[in-house]
Amino acid sequence: MDESAPSIGATVLGYPRIGPHRELKFALERYWSGRIDRAELEQVARDERARTWRVLRDAGLDSIPSGTFSLYDQVLDAAVLLGAVPARHREIHQRDPLAGYFAMARGTAEVAPLEMTKWFDTNYHYLVPEIGPDAPFRLDATKPLAELAEAAELGIATRPVLLGPVSFLLLSKPDDQAPEGYSPLARLDSLLPLYADLLAQLRAAGASWVQLDEPALVRDRGDQELSAAHTAYQALGGLDDRPALFVASYFGRLGAALPLLADTPVEAIGVDLCAGATVEQLAEVPRLRDKTLVAGIVDGRNVWRTDLRGALGTLQTMVGVSGSLAVSTSCSLLHVPYTLDAEEALDERIRPWLAFAREKVHEVVTLQCGLSQGPAVVSQELAQAASAITGRRESALTRRPDVRARVAALDESDRTRGDAEQRRTLQHERLGLPPLPTTTIGSFPQTDEVRATRAGLRAGRVDTVTYTARMRAEIERVIRLQESLGLDVLVHGEPERNDMVQYFAELLDGFATSAHGWVQSYGSRCVRPPILFGDVSRPAPMTVPWISYAQSLTDRPVKGMLTGPVTILAWSFVRDDQPLADTALQVGLAVRDETLDLERAGIGVIQVDEPALRELLPLRREDQPAYLGWAVDAFRVATSAVADGTQVHTHLCYSEFGDVVGAIDDLGADVTSLEAARSRMEVLPALTRGGMDRGVGPGVYDIHSPRVPSVAEITELLQRAAVSVPVARLWANPDCGLKTRGYAEVEAALTNLVAAATQVRESLSTR
Ligand code: GLN
Ligand code: ZN
Repeated sequence: MDESAPSIGATVLGYPRIGPHRELKFALERYWSGRIDRAELEQVARDERARTWRVLRDAGLDSIPSGTFSLYDQVLDAAVLLGAVPARHREIHQRDPLAGYFAMARGTAEVAPLEMTKWFDTNYHYLVPEIGPDAPFRLDATKPLAELAEAAELGIATRPVLLGPVSFLLLSKPDDQAPEGYSPLARLDSLLPLYADLLAQLRAAGASWVQLDEPALVRDRGDQELSAAHTAYQALGGLDDRPALFVASYFGRLGAALPLLADTPVEAIGVDLCAGATVEQLAEVPRLRDKTLVAGIVDGRNVWRTDLRGALGTLQTMVGVSGSLAVSTSCSLLHVPYTLDAEEALDERIRPWLAFAREKVHEVVTLQCGLSQGPAVVSQELAQAASAITGRRESALTRRPDVRARVAALDESDRTRGDAEQRRTLQHERLGLPPLPTTTIGSFPQTDEVRATRAGLRAGRVDTVTYTARMRAEIERVIRLQESLGLDVLVHGEPERNDMVQYFAELLDGFATSAHGWVQSYGSRCVRPPILFGDVSRPAPMTVPWISYAQSLTDRPVKGMLTGPVTILAWSFVRDDQPLADTALQVGLAVRDETLDLERAGIGVIQVDEPALRELLPLRREDQPAYLGWAVDAFRVATSAVADGTQVHTHLCYSEFGDVVGAIDDLGADVTSLEAARSRMEVLPALTRGGMDRGVGPGVYDIHSPRVPSVAEITELLQRAAVSVPVARLWANPDCGLKTRGYAEVEAALTNLVAAATQVRESLSTR
């Protein structure tokens, strides 16, 4: 290994890359639509990398990452680096690597893209490599070498960052050719020589350190997986011709993987002190004493200012646990916005409580100075942070006695409704729905005109009178359309909502919104999560005027549409100064207030969406029951105040419900709609085996595709569903909201959906 490698003192595991003004996003979209050429796209990418390296150097980090930039996704980059290109993309990739790269990311008219899935428990999505038993591997080190050289040209020495071999394989899925029981991890031996070659090339090109990310090791892992990790780092660590190796973990504790990694010759190990790693666990690993421990102590996933005094105290207790101690962020800063400086309109009382990426880099540097030179050197920074933290703790914005008293007063009766059978009878009498009722999930296509009207209101170009009139016109159009299609339970279409969380965050107390706080969700897609900073309450009704207007137009029942507490938490930056469970109850109460107002306005069906229920599920099994407990509890608080004759619906999506079917039943909703079309109703047997005996609406129209399903297809799906769910409790609906679709396809698909439901209904009555 490189004996001359300088030690790491202060670093970050990665940085945002979409551009402070989303430059990369816009360049990608222009490139894809042919409005700019490749050279222009590459220039935007180069500028973004250079800007990042300079920011990190100027802030005073002594080890700066490279290779964390990506044109689309870092896991896709790893697949391309290793030549793991699926057969269907190979020809285009050989002809033109960039076209091949985007074909894997987004698909083309001829070939499907790689599957996309959630990056651990974050809101980022990665592309899933397909690794079969014979998938070819071939190293193409162009990207890491080019970025290393590019930084060097700016006079900045960097530490190339790569996805480690074990996580690469554990994050992959078998390809179509793979036999039963095969796992991509079986390919580790064929992958390691490529990593060896890569390390040698990086060393020859001047890299003294390389970071290998192994986040997959923070999940529950079996002996085989753990021993694969040991083998891999034993092998890579044993190479003569290599840079110093830093194995990074994040999003959880390493557990049994920690002593195994410490037993290998790697020089540094990174742990996430914000997500479960503790000084006690680390102290139990004697082999850490000859390693550098990279302490991820500045939270890379949330936006709160670090309690620097507390963090420095923790770091000081770690001295001696390892050979040397470096300070870092807990994970890549990819998950937070660039800088607070861009937030001109932010409430000045809240600003001192926050730190975005650039501010977090400064915190890392401050902590490292305090650690190496003594707290006195940074006393001013420590004092400033301490006063911000105290200010936040004592602020009337974060602690509202009225909200706290309401939460404390909640009892069992606030979480329970009447007997389910009796609810069904009352709801049947009130709503008079036919068997196999048809409905949709909430949103209808968002036309350019609707978007322009919302944007106009925000910019002050459209006044509220005009805005209301246009939204009402849109609602009326959607109601008439649903009536003519023959749907049974109607929706208002959600034209007033930019986003199902942001909309409510803007109307609730306790939330702030940022102007430029964009965070990459996948590829060119960004989200701007609201900041949940204080006790939450609902100053006024949020949806009642829109829903009751919609109801006034029709005799059919209109569903009131709300977002549930878990999803509101999942898609916001949530306060870290109290348990999530407490915050969820506060949000639950705000939603509860809204359900009562809807009911009072005569609304008989209310849907509380929880698409993110599965997403927040903790990575370690032992942590899951506690999460599901509070998640279900908050939902029940939100939905149990209404009368038994009011029908409560919920909606869940993003598939893979396996781990949460019990919780879905525990939510207690009268009707649960689920994404199911693509998996062909797979979820239903497990759900009903668990004893779920209320209404179920498995999606029979895959809204992720512009394809219009035929009557025959939908009928088949409904019949398949009827095997697990008695028809008396079955609903017919799409997989999810329709807002990303166009009207032509939606009208055609819903026509077929209603026709299919009618057919199945008739076949029943004649049976
Ligand atoms: N009611 C929302 C809609 O229809 C639900 C969206 C979701 O599940 N993600 O758009
Ligand atoms: Zn959905």
